[in-house]
Amino acid sequence: MTIDTRGVPECTRCGACCFSDAPDYLAVLGVDSERMGRDAERWTESHNGRLYMRLQDGHCGALQITGDGRYLCSIYEKRPDVCRWLERGSGHCRGELKTKSDRARAALVQLRSRETKPQG
Ligand code: SF4
Ligand code: SF4
Repeated sequence: MTIDTRGVPECTRCGACCFSDAPDYLAVLGVDSERMGRDAERWTESHNGRLYMRLQDGHCGALQITGDGRYLCSIYEKRPDVCRWLERGSGHCRGELKTKSDRARAALVQLRSRETKPQG
């Protein structure tokens, strides 16, 4: 079955599903940490004996937001399975869009305001 992606932004213009405040949001399985190799130490942390992606500023620490409005996964090739399973345009994706798009937009506004602030 083909997923209907009408009305769904490109992932690199969205980033909603990379946002969360829950430390156990992004589970990292054994297969994931193996794939990440030495990067696993940098991007993950343990809670109650299980491994998760480390969060920062309300989103996954591996998410890189750029001033021109892109949301990039800095470990895309090594991202955990939980991120691979979420299909763009699926019900889960649409749920994330509905509940978290405003967080992604707010983070971009914040970044832009930091970038335009005079230094000194
Ligand atoms: S919420 Fe959907 S469209 Fe947005 S980044 Fe995630 S999968 Fe892509
Ligand atoms: S690993 Fe990449 S795709 Fe997964 S939540 Fe983090 S930034 Fe998003």
